[in-house]
Amino acid sequence: MQKIILQGIQYDEKSSYQKGASLAPPLIREALTCGSANLFAENGISIEDAHLIDKGDFQIQEYFDIEKITQQHLETGAKILTLGGDHSITFPVIKAHHKQYPKLDILHIDAHCDLYYEFEGDPYSHACPFARIMENGFAVRLVQVGIRTLNTHQAEQAEKYKVEIHQMKDLDLTNIPTFKNPLYISLDMDGFDPAYAPGVSHHEPGGLTARQVIDLIQNIETEVIGADIVEYNPTKDFHNMTAFLAAKMMKEILVKMM
Ligand code: MN
Ligand code: MN
Repeated sequence: MQKIILQGIQYDEKSSYQKGASLAPPLIREALTCGSANLFAENGISIEDAHLIDKGDFQIQEYFDIEKITQQHLETGAKILTLGGDHSITFPVIKAHHKQYPKLDILHIDAHCDLYYEFEGDPYSHACPFARIMENGFAVRLVQVGIRTLNTHQAEQAEKYKVEIHQMKDLDLTNIPTFKNPLYISLDMDGFDPAYAPGVSHHEPGGLTARQVIDLIQNIETEVIGADIVEYNPTKDFHNMTAFLAAKMMKEILVKMM
């Protein structure tokens, strides 16, 4: 069984609206291990049976240090689950994965498609990671689910890079494609409706239920080679409910990586 490394990336410098996501990784771990729930995913497999190596949390000064840290962890032969951090961390994480996985599919769950060419002058803003990933050819397929903020610019970007967007307004979860290449999951916690995940910087009503995202992940049939859970902002949370949701998603994603 392949090892799985857990890495926390404490970074929210590229969050355009509110800071706080850098505080997330230790609080997600705490929710996972505090005794509120057991360590079994719903399929009856415990994440204690994963060869999980927790490398702890990294305080990031330089943005591309995220790529270096991820690269070092990939070189051990492990798969990596990353706890963010704002969504800008996904570009350097995917950049590190590209050498090992030249043909990668990405399932991206988010209220936003994060396809801005640049945002407020920053090409590495948390509004831009999937533009950088696609223009570099780091993903064969990018499938986005939960989107409910599409504007003209990002619709043009999506068309340019052939991004497959499943907007909330016409969501049909039976219509999500099956993947053929190794799959990376990028879960932005604001993909959930704010009723389920109040601890995010951008409250965007009309989102996914916890059950819909769990079902989406449980129905994946291809090998999941890596994942991130990003944009949990503890300063906006209510009774840690978003931390507990992130911890549950960790378990559901981990058993797909085992
Ligand atoms: Mn995002
Ligand atoms: Mn988002």
